[in-house]
Amino acid sequence: MQHKAKKRFGQNFLHDKRIIGRIVSSINPKEGENIVEIGPGLGAMTLPVLECCKKMTAIELDRSLIENLQKITASIGELILHQGDALKFDLGELSSEHLSPENQKMRLIGNLPYNISTPLLFHFVKWTDRIQDMHFMLQKEVVQRMAACPGTKIYGRLSVMLQYHCHVESLFEIHPGAFNPPPKVDSAIVRLIPHAAPPVQVDDMQLFSEMVTAAFNGRRKTIRNSLKKFLSEDQIQQAGLDPQIRPEQLELAQFAALANAAYILK
Ligand code: SAM
Repeated sequence: MQHKAKKRFGQNFLHDKRIIGRIVSSINPKEGENIVEIGPGLGAMTLPVLECCKKMTAIELDRSLIENLQKITASIGELILHQGDALKFDLGELSSEHLSPENQKMRLIGNLPYNISTPLLFHFVKWTDRIQDMHFMLQKEVVQRMAACPGTKIYGRLSVMLQYHCHVESLFEIHPGAFNPPPKVDSAIVRLIPHAAPPVQVDDMQLFSEMVTAAFNGRRKTIRNSLKKFLSEDQIQQAGLDPQIRPEQLELAQFAALANAAYILK
């Protein structure tokens, strides 16, 4: 199909067969699984995945790609295609409507549009109780930030919030030449596996999220300064932490301890 890639939809289509094979092996799709692809595009990943699982769902924003996707997949298996914005998509509804009751959990996959990858990740973690795992292609720097450890320069809000919900594993990198048109950045594949139970107790998710955001908005400030809206210096000390440290030194459990202390005072 002749298609001019649209920048506004973050369209960089995969064409390197060897890379596509490597991604599909990492996903290891099987018949009976509830695979949901975000942004199937010209079908680079859809076709080999559908060959393995025979039935899958996909959400694609670009109307002009829908007819071709239906045509090229028809002889391979059943593709349930939703034209729309994955950012607005209620995955909870999708899982109750379309998925087989014996295997309710979804496996999300996709070469995500890089311009909206962070909002998409925050959207998907709302449904981690219905998700088995996620395999995404993202900008390499984003994957590095997702998997970052405390004490590093790239550790931030994305690391803390995603690691609260999921085990994050960076799998491998992909060079720009694997795409058409080639993006200006390197890419990487990440595997996210939702935790069976939260790794730390958080009493109020909204407050936890607000506190993590405030802490990293003032990245160079001590937590005494960046968190003063939530806790006084004494209260930070009572939660067992040094008010003089900076947010990148805090582990997930310590963010949770601070948010839970603020919750009691609310
Ligand atoms: N999966 C294809 C591949 O690997 O060649 C295409 C990947 S391309 C980087 C991103 C795809 O996501 C495009 O097909 C684009 O139209 C689609 N897309 C962009 N924004 C979207 C959104 N908000 N919801 C669903 N799909 C979107």
